[in-house]
Amino acid sequence: MNGTSTIAIAGAGPAGLAAATLLSRAGRTVVVHEKNATVGARFVGDLQVIEDASDRRENVPAMFTRLGLPAPSWVPATSAEFFDARMRRFEIASKEPYAWFVTRGPGEGTLDTTLLAGAQQAGAEIRFRSRVEPASVDLVATGPQTPDGLAREMAFETDRTTRVRVLFDPSVAPGGYAYLFTVGGRGTFGCAIVRDLGGIDGYFEKAKEKLLSVDAFPMEGRRDAYSFMNFALAPEPGRDGRPAAGEAGAFQDYLFGLGMRYAIASGALAAEALLTGGDFAALARERFGRRQRVSLVNRFLYEAGGAFGLSLFARLATRVDFRSVLSAFYRPGPVRLALAPLVAALWRNRGLCAHRLPPHWCRAREREIRAPELGRIG
Ligand SMILES: Cc1cc2nc3c(=O)[nH]c(=O)nc-3n(C[C@H](O)[C@H](O)[C@H](O)COP(=O)(O)OP(=O)(O)OC[C@H]3O[C@@H](n4cnc5c(N)ncnc54)[C@H](O)[C@@H]3O)c2cc1C
Repeated sequence: MNGTSTIAIAGAGPAGLAAATLLSRAGRTVVVHEKNATVGARFVGDLQVIEDASDRRENVPAMFTRLGLPAPSWVPATSAEFFDARMRRFEIASKEPYAWFVTRGPGEGTLDTTLLAGAQQAGAEIRFRSRVEPASVDLVATGPQTPDGLAREMAFETDRTTRVRVLFDPSVAPGGYAYLFTVGGRGTFGCAIVRDLGGIDGYFEKAKEKLLSVDAFPMEGRRDAYSFMNFALAPEPGRDGRPAAGEAGAFQDYLFGLGMRYAIASGALAAEALLTGGDFAALARERFGRRQRVSLVNRFLYEAGGAFGLSLFARLATRVDFRSVLSAFYRPGPVRLALAPLVAALWRNRGLCAHRLPPHWCRAREREIRAPELGRIG
């Protein structure tokens, strides 16, 4: 690619739009192909959190400012209630925000439409209803490919005050968790699982009954959606021989599936590599490699801990500043780095998954979700 040719990006999610903004601002001609008619089409105005603990040197607003990305309307999260399988409540708090609430989807003020406006303002062209093959573009940012983790969510409007509730109970959210957020007039209840994906509806109902039984509150305009995420980590972030950012490049927080920060950071790094002619895979290994390996170990410990481990985690989290607890989990410490090759060996891809990735680690060691179920999820 020379300095004047058009840069083609597949996917207008956070990764693709962050890359497009930076490339356009540097004077490059950029076309982003988006298969859907809008950005954020798989989301329904649901609340998600951009975690603010994985990098103690730079908080989330500072990262947006440094990259010159427009800030969505966001709300800081400094407290939460955790529940264990026996519905014991643990209150956690942090001095600095451990995360920032944003909304996702095609509506006004969401992360997706804010990043879209920023990319367009910088001069990028976004071509909607344009599905392209990864091999035909300069950067792949097409999001998750297959459901390693699956969530059913309901988004609604409510006048309830700010609440963050998370239920850690493997019997209603195997390998995952259920969550209830009410923030700024909006609410979201979701159940995210990584095992027995076909049973999502049953888990959703059971988790809802448990978490919403704590107290009743009004909900209006309920919208339900299914969506999935990849839990696959690749030492070489490429797809079909092309650099890939965000979940398409296997960038993911393996612990909780909080992929937005990774998507934006890896999209920005891909833009840097395209501008400088740098080796994206090498840059990504250097920037994210250790964190990704530790995240693999975190997920292993999270699943191995079962109900007892999760209860212990919730209890510990009440004792200290929660942002510090999360930071400690994300920090690539020597013990977990030493454990990483063991987990990687256990979870190396044995050909059970359908990720079009180079050699990688994933937890698709059970059957893939069946095709008819995928149709329903879209
Ligand atoms: C229910 C749910 C809750 C979540 N909650 C959180 C949370 O609280 N915090 C967090 O950090 N993360 C969360 N995540 C994960 C987060 O949403 C993703 O990690 C993030 O959106 C990944 O960004 P991305 O740009 O890589 O991909 P995406 O956001 O998926 O964007 C990819 C885009 O590419 C388009 N596309 C796909 N294929 C093609 C093609 N062939 N041609 C053209 N366009 C194509 C898609 O339509 C899409 O618009 C959640 C995920 C789910 C499913």
